[in-house]
Parts: sequence; structure tokens; C-alpha cells
Amino acid sequence: MSVPFDHVFLGDIVTGTEILRDGYVAVRGETIAAIGQGIPPPAQQTVDHRGKLILPGLVDGHMHTSSSLGWPGIEGATRSAAAGGVTTVVDMPYDVPQPVTSVSVLADKIAAVRKFAHVDMALYGTIAKSGGLDEIAGLAAAGISAFKLSTYEYDPVRFPRIDHPTMLAAFAEIAKTGLPVAIHNEDQELVERLTDQARAAGHTDAIWHARTRPPLAETLADLEIFELGLATGAHVHIAHSSLARGFDIAESFRAQGGRATGEACIQYLCMTEDDLVRLGGRGKCNPPFRTAAEVERMWDRLVAGKIAYVSTDHAPWPLDRKQSPDIFANSAGLPGLQSFAPLMFTLLDERGLSPCLMALYCAEQTARLHGLYPKKGAIRIGSDADLLVVERGDYVFDEACIVDLPAQRWSPYHGRRMRAQVAATILRGRTIWDGSAIRAAAGSGQFVRRQVI
Ligand SMILES: [Zn+2]
Repeated sequence: MSVPFDHVFLGDIVTGTEILRDGYVAVRGETIAAIGQGIPPPAQQTVDHRGKLILPGLVDGHMHTSSSLGWPGIEGATRSAAAGGVTTVVDMPYDVPQPVTSVSVLADKIAAVRKFAHVDMALYGTIAKSGGLDEIAGLAAAGISAFKLSTYEYDPVRFPRIDHPTMLAAFAEIAKTGLPVAIHNEDQELVERLTDQARAAGHTDAIWHARTRPPLAETLADLEIFELGLATGAHVHIAHSSLARGFDIAESFRAQGGRATGEACIQYLCMTEDDLVRLGGRGKCNPPFRTAAEVERMWDRLVAGKIAYVSTDHAPWPLDRKQSPDIFANSAGLPGLQSFAPLMFTLLDERGLSPCLMALYCAEQTARLHGLYPKKGAIRIGSDADLLVVERGDYVFDEACIVDLPAQRWSPYHGRRMRAQVAATILRGRTIWDGSAIRAAAGSGQFVRRQVI
């Protein structure tokens, strides 16, 4: 006798709108074939997670696998993703030795995904500092989920600043594709002047990272990019706002007819300038952590539905680039994939908020913006069977558990009490993390092209 389903997962099912107690998700092949409550249907395999929460596998819309190691960095970062309940990542294009600025580089990166990835990956594309406009249409047709440009130059090749006339022309081309363009939003002139002044005065301790990147450095850039968006019709997205005001500005441009959105990174929902002082180089990211009052305002905007989604901006720099007593000598960026699900669950629970908000803002909304929904980001019939199993409890996050390469086994959340851990991660029906070990091989992740324009 044949049974109708390959796998049935039992637990409390959490969607973006409700929790189904004593539920099940039935899988046929790699997709969700039935969802329900009560007595589960027969299957080849029944996986009992009763008493735990089953959410859609998280979709992280912003991370950097390949800033330091190049594409082989995909392997360790996506292992961390699997252990952190993340089943789809949308990877930034600023890779060494070459960013994703053409269809041919994109094809090579997709081949690297097929070789190294443990979870599914969508990809951003970008343009060269000059002369890159001709590649925009081809990159969109080849399946990238979004473009990424920057108002701030970290490197003239890998991470260039795109000047205003070039950005205007690029936005006009990107508008024709229908894809969003995410922007790293910091005003270069203001930051450089303040940094030069701080260095000249001998101010190199950690707090000066925040003082040289004040809120105005972000909001100046926000206004510029949204004005360019309004002028061209492009969907312009703030790649990370550490400020509630960034979301207010986006909302004001939407009211004027613009396609304007922004995302928060999880660190801006919990970290403050005190954490920057405590962590030193380990707490350096751009934009910097803000005040405790700003964190409260960020939560206000999230609950009000004004934040497109929450990401990690995962950037796994080796620890030796994060330990200088001169804050300006450290690389900017934090690892966040492996702590993503436990931390988001904890932050919501500490505020008495529903885990449905995690399904909504760390999976569904992200997948929608990147054109991956409903294949990704939802517990829904016909969607990929990507699931995150959360176990409530009292845990302390230990960076020794990080499953990335040894040099990258550190976390700014080391020692934080968590109210949940990831009991299992399921990618297209297969358990790839069982709560203690990675169960998938490198290359089991796939490239996911944008499904919806
Ligand atoms: Zn980033």
C-alpha cells in the first residue's frame, strides 16, 4: 500500500498570522502538500516535534558570505545559516576578488553556490563604479533578486560609491526591470570629515565609531536615494536603517507615490552604544549601534508594520580583523546567521510579542520583497518544505557552537541568554540541522532565481 506523503512534521505551526496548536505539515517530494491540526495523515516518515514551534525556514535578505574569503566563504556562512534556522539567504554582491557586476560573473557565482551552499541562495547584483549600466538588464534576466548600490565607498572595486549622475542613470535602467535596488546609506563626506577630526584629536576608542557616523549621515543618504527613486520610478530600498526616522522617511516618499522601503537588521533591535563600548571592534558595524531610546523607536516602527523585513547583515570577518584597540582599524560587520532565530524569538518573547512576527518579518516579507514568495518564506501548500523548529527554554548563546570556519567562530551575542534554540532546520523536506549537527553536504543548497517581478 502506498502512503500519500513522504514526511509529516508534527508541532505547533506558526504562520505570519496564526499558531495552529498540535498541527502537522505534510511533505511530498520537496514541497508542502498538506497542513492541518489533529490526527496527522500517514507518511513514509513521521517526525515528532510536538511541543515545539514549527515556523517557515527563515529568509535572510542581507548577508555577505564572500567579503573576506571569496566564494569559498559560502560554505561556512551557509552552515551557520542552517544551524540558525535560515533556509534561504540573499547574498550581497560585494565579493572578493570580484563583485557581481556582469552576467558572466553571476554565472560563476551560481556555480559556486551549487558547489558550496548548505542552504538555498538568492543573489544580489551590482554595477561597476563606472560603465556598468549595460549589464543591468542582463543581470535581471539571469535571475538576481535585487540590485545593491552604495552611497559610500569601502573599496573602489569591491564596494564602490556610485556618484549621483551614475546612480540616476542606473535607477532609470533598474526601474525598467521592476527589481528593487537596495542602497548602503551613509553620507561619505560627513563621515570622512568627522573621522579625520576624531583621528587628529587622538579619539580612537570604540564610541568614536558611533560619533563619527551620526544619524544625519544616514538620513542625508536616505533622502538622496529616495529623491532619485522618485525621479526614476525605481523601487529604492534602504539596505539597513538603524534609525526609526529612516522608515518614516520611506513612508513619506510612499505617500508621494514613490516605491520606497527599508529594512532593519536585528542588531538595531537590541544593541546600543553601550554594547559598542563593551564589545570594541567586535561591535563595529555600519551603520553603528544607536541609543537605547532609538532601539525602542525601532520596535515601534516594526510593530506598526513600517519595516519591510528584518535581516542580519551577516559579515563573518575573521576575529583577527576585529580586535584592534583603534576602532577605526577594525573591519565593519558582524556575524548573525547562527543566532538569528534564537535571538529574534527571544527579543519578541521578552516584549510579549508573538512569534508570528518572526514568520512575517524574517521569512514571508523578505521573500515577498525579493520575489521568492510563495516558493519561499511561507508554510503554505505548494511552497518549498523549508521549516524551522524552535524549542523554548533557557539557554546561553555560546560562540563555541558556531559551525563556520574556526577563525570565524565568534559572535557579538556570546553569553546572551536566549529563550529558544533551533531544534531542527528542514530544507525542501530534508533535515539539514538536527539541533546539534549539520546533516547536509556542501552543494545541497540551490540558487533560487527571482520568481516574481
Ligand atoms: Zn551589508
